[in-house]
Amino acid sequence: MIEHLPDRLDLYAMAEAGRELRGRVDLASLERLLPVLGSPEGELQVTLELGLSHDGTRYLAGTIKGALTLQCQRCLESMEYPLDVRFQLGLVHSQEEMRKLPDRFEPLLVSQDPTCIADVISDEVLLTLPIVPVHTDMKQCQELATEYQTPDLGQRENPFAVLAQLKHK
Ligand SMILES: [Zn+2]
Repeated sequence: MIEHLPDRLDLYAMAEAGRELRGRVDLASLERLLPVLGSPEGELQVTLELGLSHDGTRYLAGTIKGALTLQCQRCLESMEYPLDVRFQLGLVHSQEEMRKLPDRFEPLLVSQDPTCIADVISDEVLLTLPIVPVHTDMKQCQELATEYQTPDLGQRENPFAVLAQLKHK
């Protein structure tokens, strides 16, 4: 069974110890991500690997998988956006450590440990999102627009159909 990840993790200590974690994170708990979501329903699957690299960098590597509901900026209907994010962060305490970090790591400035893991995950997801999300195929926008109009027309006709039936009785 895959459990929820803890809210906060002591990243430096876990990197020293070399720990791996796998768990679920509710979208609703990712506060920094919420403003861009069409719906806070759902969860993401997250794996985290903490360790010490051969050159002495304490790192947090991981994957984030799942799907988000975003609002298409062309038709304004919701769209599912699949996530498959990989990241490799080097833990740093200061700007100076950040400058020394090997290129293959993105810096994660740890100002206080334990670190709010939801913020780290939110930031990694935000980095991968398009600035203006739109359905990949413009046809999808047109189809959605048609789908949403049809039931409306049906509902508008219904009361008249009922009235017509009454008149005939
Ligand atoms: Zn669209």
